[in-house]
Amino acid sequence: MIRRCRLGVVAVAAAMSLLSAFAFSACDGSSHAITASPAVEPSATLPPAEPTPEPTPKPAVTPAPAERPPVFADCDSPALEVRRGNSTRQMVALTFDAGSDAGYTSQILQTLSDAGVKASFSLTGEWSEAHPDLVQAMAAGGHLLMNHSYDHPSFTGLSTGAGPLSTQQRIDELDRADTVIRSITGQTTKPYFRPPYADFDGSVLCDVYADGYYYLVMWTVDTMGWNGATAEEIVQTSLSRAKQGAIYIMHVGSQSQDAVALPRVIDGLRAQGYSFGTIADILR
Ligand SMILES: [Zn+2]
Repeated sequence: MIRRCRLGVVAVAAAMSLLSAFAFSACDGSSHAITASPAVEPSATLPPAEPTPEPTPKPAVTPAPAERPPVFADCDSPALEVRRGNSTRQMVALTFDAGSDAGYTSQILQTLSDAGVKASFSLTGEWSEAHPDLVQAMAAGGHLLMNHSYDHPSFTGLSTGAGPLSTQQRIDELDRADTVIRSITGQTTKPYFRPPYADFDGSVLCDVYADGYYYLVMWTVDTMGWNGATAEEIVQTSLSRAKQGAIYIMHVGSQSQDAVALPRVIDGLRAQGYSFGTIADILR
C-alpha cells in the first residue's frame, strides 16, 4: 500500500543548484526511481512523522499527531522534504540535533573521530552562541552543519500552541542562526534546514526555500533517545531499522543516551556493510 511507502529524495545536481532531482521510493523492499520536480507531490504519500520534541527548557511539547496530513506547497519553488537519502547505496547518515545543553557533544565528536565517521549536526543559534568551541570542533572535524533556527520556535505553532511565525519571522530565525554559525566557523548552514519540533507545512517549505534552504531535512530512523530510550534500546532500534539511504536522528543533550549507544551503533551498522556520510553525501 502506498501509505507504507518510504519516500526519500535525492538531488543529483550539486546541493546548491537544483537543476534536476529524482525521488526514490522504496515500498516493502522494492525500489525504483521516478522523476519529480523538487518537492510537492512526494509529500502526499509520506508516512506520518514520528514526534521528535527536543528536550529543551522551552514550552511543553505536544507530540506531533499520529497522522500528518499531506503537505502541499503553494508556491513554485518549495524546499524539498527529505526523509531518506539515496536508497541505491549502502550508506547511512547520522544526524544530531543540538538545541538544549552541551550534554555529550564532546564525547560524540570523539567517538565520530575515532571511528572516522562524518556526521551532520543541526544547531540552533542560541546553542551555538553558548558553545562556540563545540561548533568550531564540529566544523574542524568535517561534519556538516544544518540550521535548526535561532531559538527553536515552532514555525507553524503546532507543537508550542503559539501562532505560526510570519514569513519574515521565519527568515529572521534562519538568518540569525546562520550568522552566528558563520561567525564561528566561516561556513554557512545553507541549504539544509531541520525544523524545530519537526513542525512544517506548505508555507514553511516555501519560506525556507526563498531564504536559500532548499532541503528540509527530516529522518528515516528516530532512535527515541530524546524520549528516554536506553542505550540498549537505541542500539536495537538503530540496527534493526537500518536501510540504504537511512537518515538517523539523535540528540547531543544530556537527557539522551544516544552518545552512550553511538559506538555500538557505528560498529553494528558497519558490520551490516553500511558506510557513513553527511546529509550532502547521502543525497548524492
Ligand atoms: Zn530541536
